[in-house]
Amino acid sequence: ISLTQNNLAEIATHITSPTYSRNDLEIGIVHVGVGGFHRAHQAFYTNKLQETKNANEWAICGVGLREGDRKIYDVLKKQDGLYSLIIKHPDGNIETSIIGSIKDILLSVDDPKAVVQRMANPQTKIVSLTITEGGYNFDASTGEFNFNNTDIQHELQNPDDPKTVFGYLTAALKKRWDSALPAFTIMSCDNIEHNGDVTQKMVMSFAKKQNPDLAQWIENNVSFPNSMVDRITPVTTQADIEYLEKEYGLKDEWPVTCEPFIQWVIEDDFSNGRPELEKVGVQFVPNVKPYEKMKLRLLNAGHSVLGILGALHGHQTINACMEDATFVKYLRTFMDIEATPTLDQLEGIDLDTYKDSLEARFANPNIKDSVSRICSESSAKLPKFLIATLSDNLESHNSIEFATLVIASWCYYSDKQLNKDGQPIEVIDAMAKELHEAAKQTSSDPLSFIKQKSIFGNLADNERFANQYKEKIAKIYNDTDIKKHMKEMI
Ligand code: NAD
Repeated sequence: ISLTQNNLAEIATHITSPTYSRNDLEIGIVHVGVGGFHRAHQAFYTNKLQETKNANEWAICGVGLREGDRKIYDVLKKQDGLYSLIIKHPDGNIETSIIGSIKDILLSVDDPKAVVQRMANPQTKIVSLTITEGGYNFDASTGEFNFNNTDIQHELQNPDDPKTVFGYLTAALKKRWDSALPAFTIMSCDNIEHNGDVTQKMVMSFAKKQNPDLAQWIENNVSFPNSMVDRITPVTTQADIEYLEKEYGLKDEWPVTCEPFIQWVIEDDFSNGRPELEKVGVQFVPNVKPYEKMKLRLLNAGHSVLGILGALHGHQTINACMEDATFVKYLRTFMDIEATPTLDQLEGIDLDTYKDSLEARFANPNIKDSVSRICSESSAKLPKFLIATLSDNLESHNSIEFATLVIASWCYYSDKQLNKDGQPIEVIDAMAKELHEAAKQTSSDPLSFIKQKSIFGNLADNERFANQYKEKIAKIYNDTDIKKHMKEMI
């Protein structure tokens, strides 16, 4: 049976499905970037809230801004916005449910006007984003908006022909201003430290150049709450699609799988109302920064540590790394002696318990999160996840060697693109070319990789780091058996 609204009553006889009337839902949220994570997290919480039968004005309209979103657009159109969420527990138990909170989907490359209209619609109260770190268009070393992007230059000159998220947001906000409508909240749900502040800074930089009067209105009217989001959501596999067919006879062309753990901590700062997500477990706090720092520097950094070292060793998944005692010990030591000392005390959170739970989550044998997903876009991720910790530790004269080995490994990975057994590694990164070019010079200039200022700032000038890094580079280039080098340190 195909997953569609018409078939939902029948599907509901054997899979948990929406019990609220989807017809009565109105779109209150426009979400840009309907990837796996949005569907496992925000859309899941929203669906849960809709189950209380008291949240009809908060349905979601998904938006894809890239040609690459055509597949999800086609699938969700065909399935009336419905999809299955497959929650995989560490003990092998699997919970499947149908999520109904996404009511519509738009693809901007086909119909840019419809996207602007939807955001400008009086019912829209929130525009939320999961557009990956790269979508924010900032220079990682300066943190400033990148005006050299050709799409951005086009939008600055042609406000009626938006291309990037910045062009769409300002075009829609201009319409709302012109029609005397309240502004919507812009809510980033990406893994970026101070995601709301960063979004605000980028939107304001763009708007000030495009239309200073509009920028002033945005400044006075739009809120940008910071948030910390968490739920490990691996890339969907063919096996997940087949599981639904075999287990339930259900044809879902793009289900999502995830772990049972879920968390969302968000600042209670909304321009135009918000759903009562506290009723379904979301935490609203005055200041989210200490929570996000903990998560980025332990969970996300932990993932990158396992991912990059795992890629060189030849592990395919994060749980395979966690079956390897050397990786487990290395990860824990990194978290204990390098990441934890840079964190603030958090009321109600015991960091040792949090780290224990991370180890258990990473080890979930049913999640099989691929090392390649974790390593993708490392040039955008590592400055926030790992290099920030390294810089803090340089300042406080604390240990840096665990993070440094990861960075030296990343250089080798970008240079040779091979694991220790000579098997090829596919580097998925917007900066893949630049990374490769810089890494390739290592034999003539051992510091060439860390001289990339947009990633490392001026860190190559720090003598202590440069020396440690050179030492690790020499080791790895001499002997690619990364586990041997890890073992020496633990
Ligand atoms: P995904 O690849 O499934 O989806 C990414 C989405 O971002 C796509 O819709 C894509 O079109 C869009 N996108 C990418 N670059 C863009 C740009 N420049 N402009 C506009 N849209 C752009 O990835 P995902 O697993 O859904 O993860 C998305 C983000 O969610 C991550 O980058 C991260 O910040 C956050 N997140 C993910 C997880 C996870 O476990 N997957 C956990 C926490 C947070």
